[in-house]
Amino acid sequence: MNLVPVAYSEIRRDLLAGKRSCVEIVQGHLDRISKYNPHLNAFLAVYDEESLVRAREIDERIKAGNAGALAGLVVGIKDLLCYEGHPSQAGSRILDGFQSTFSATAVQRLLDADAIIIGRQNCDEFGMGSTNENSAFGPVLNYANTAHVAGGSSGGSAVAVQAGMCQVSLGTDTGGSIRMPAAFCGIAGLKPTYGRVSRWGLIAYASSFDTIGPMAHHLGDLALVLKVMEGKDGYDSTVMDESVSNYSATQRIAYMKEIVEHPSLQADIREAFFARLERFKANGYEIVAVDFPYIEQLLPTYYVLTTAEASSNLARFDGVKYGHRTEGAADLMEMYKKTRHEAFGEEVKRRIMLGTFVLSADYYDAYYTKAQQVRRLIQEKTLAILADCDFIVSPTTSSTAYKIGEKTLDPLQMYLGDLFTVQANITGLPALSVPMGLDSNGLPMGFQVTGRACDEYAMLEFTKLIN
Ligand code: GLN
Repeated sequence: MNLVPVAYSEIRRDLLAGKRSCVEIVQGHLDRISKYNPHLNAFLAVYDEESLVRAREIDERIKAGNAGALAGLVVGIKDLLCYEGHPSQAGSRILDGFQSTFSATAVQRLLDADAIIIGRQNCDEFGMGSTNENSAFGPVLNYANTAHVAGGSSGGSAVAVQAGMCQVSLGTDTGGSIRMPAAFCGIAGLKPTYGRVSRWGLIAYASSFDTIGPMAHHLGDLALVLKVMEGKDGYDSTVMDESVSNYSATQRIAYMKEIVEHPSLQADIREAFFARLERFKANGYEIVAVDFPYIEQLLPTYYVLTTAEASSNLARFDGVKYGHRTEGAADLMEMYKKTRHEAFGEEVKRRIMLGTFVLSADYYDAYYTKAQQVRRLIQEKTLAILADCDFIVSPTTSSTAYKIGEKTLDPLQMYLGDLFTVQANITGLPALSVPMGLDSNGLPMGFQVTGRACDEYAMLEFTKLIN
C-alpha cells in the first residue's frame, strides 16, 4: 500500500556518485503525480516544467562539485507558504489570483540548499480544519483508503508524501495540522518548537501558535530539512537566536493518564501504544504515568485563543489589497462585506465570528483573558512533567482517519479530534508524530512524542526505537 521511498541520504549518495540524476528523480515524482493526483487531489498546482529546468541546473552543480545540502530533494509546499512568482491561496477563494512577491524564509532556505519545489499542496482554508474537507478546492483522499480523509489541515502535504509524489512536504501546525494528517497517512511529521523556524512568508492563522515543519517517510529527512530551515532571519522577531537543546537523558518518559483513559480513544490505538511503551522499557526507559488535570481545558483554551488571533489576522482580506473583490458594490463597506461573504468558506466565517465575539469589549475578560490565564497553567504543568521526564508520549489521535463526510456536519465533533495535539501548540513545545502500524481496518495510527523546547533532534533519535 504505502510506497516508502529511500531516505534522502541514500538518494544523495547516488546523485553524488553519478548513479542517478535530479532530472530522473523529478520525472519519477511527476509520473506518480500524473497517476495519483487526479483522484487524490493533494496538489493544487504542479510546477512540472520549472522543476525539470531546476533539476538540470542542479545536476550541473553536482557535476561541478558544488551541490547544496539538499541537492535534488523533491519538496512540495502547503498552500499557506509564499513562493515568489507563484500563487498562494491558503486553500481559499479569497486569494484568487494572488501571486507571492517574495518567498517564505523556510521555502527560500530550501531553495538555497538546492531543493526542488515540485508543487503547491491542498489544505483546509487558512489551516482551519482537521480533515482537509474545508478546502475551497475539495477534499484530499487518503491513499491508504480513498473512502477516508487525509486529515488536516496539511492533508495534501501528507498524501503527497504518502503516495510518493514528493520526498518531503512543508506543512504548518497551529493545533496539530502536521501531526494529525501524518498519523492518518502513516508518515512522520514534525512540529518544531515555536520560534525555531521563521514564520516570514507564512499566511497567518494564529500567530502565537503557528509553526512550519517537515513531513516525510524518514526521520532522517525531517532532521535534515529542519536543520536547513531553522534559525533567525531578521524578519520574525519570535525566532530564537540560538536553539540550544536541554536534553538531559534521564531515560524517563511520561504518559498522561487522562489521555490513555479517554473514552474517545480507539481500542486498537491504545493497544498499539502500550505495546510501543513495552519496547521502550526493554530498551532501558522508565515509564511514568502522570496526571494532567487540564485535559478538559485544552480545547476551549485553544479554540478561544486561535479564533481571537484569526479574527484579527484575517481582517486584511477585504478585497482591497489582494485576491478576490466583489463586483458592483455601491460603497466601500458593501464591498468589504460582499467580498468576505462571497469568498470565505463556512468554517472560516464561523471562526472569525467566534474570535470577534471573544475579543469584544463585554466578553474580553470572560473569554480571552481567562483563556490566556489557563494557557499559562497548561504551560506550567506541562513543563513540570518535562522537568522530571525527557518526553511525554501519547497516541497522536484518538482514532484513525474518519470516513469522508463523517464529521463535517458537527463542528464540535471535528474540534474534539484535536484533543491530543493542541497541547504542544498551547505550550509552544516541539512534537513529532511517527507511524505506529495499522488498525484492524488497515488504517495508519500515529505515536506522538513531545519534548522540551529545542529537543527536536533528541526526539528524532528516541523515536527510531518505535518501528
Ligand atoms: N484542527 C485544528 C484547527 O482547526 C488545527 C489546525 C492547524 O494546526 N492549522 O484549528
